[in-house]
Amino acid sequence: MAIRSDQGIVLRSFPFGEADRVVVILSPNHGKLRTVAKGIRKTKSRFGGRLEPFTHVDLVLYEGRNLDTITQVSVIETFSHLRDDLDQVIAAGTMVEAVDAVASEGEPSLRLFLLLQRGLRALDQGETSSDLVTAFLLKLAEVIGLAPALDFCASCGRQAQTLRFGFAAGGAVCDNCPTEGAVRLRPGLTAYLSVLAEADLADLPQPDPRFSGEAMGIARRFVEYHLERRLSSLAVLDE
Ligand SMILES: [Zn+2]
Repeated sequence: MAIRSDQGIVLRSFPFGEADRVVVILSPNHGKLRTVAKGIRKTKSRFGGRLEPFTHVDLVLYEGRNLDTITQVSVIETFSHLRDDLDQVIAAGTMVEAVDAVASEGEPSLRLFLLLQRGLRALDQGETSSDLVTAFLLKLAEVIGLAPALDFCASCGRQAQTLRFGFAAGGAVCDNCPTEGAVRLRPGLTAYLSVLAEADLADLPQPDPRFSGEAMGIARRFVEYHLERRLSSLAVLDE
């Protein structure tokens, strides 16, 4: 069997067989990896807590026919601070879930990897505003080629005032365009979203409580609409 090294951020894992887990990892080089950690569910596993979700790890893998087996793992970055706070863990879970939904197996995904790394790092450094997740989702949409129109009308392309948002239309729409299913927005919301879409995740502008909640709702529904699935971590935030 061939041995290779790789690295990535752990997205999730699930039990496999008696004592093993399948660990799903986003690698910058090979996209989504499904790997097996043998014996990880035994009390004295040699992996310890190193394959917990959100951990950036360096791996040595035995290549298998279907799944690669992890033989060595070392931690590159733990993002340990974000684990101390439930809201931060939920926000990280949303990022990981969205990435998991769009990443493909066997396809390099450097931009997606770097986006996730920056998002987790911002959380780890104490960013608590929901604007971080909003900005993350808008950037994720851009990485997969689905950036919503925010500075112009998604329907006619004009730089008109946009007070509605069409999920199927692909973004903000002006009042001249009859767009079925478009929702009305608070004036100024598209500009707020546009700033977040361009912002550095590590240096977000001061959140504005008039816009943050609605901005998150729009970004989330937009990504959900195009991924055709609900982001269940965000559903937890609703409750
Ligand atoms: Zn229009």
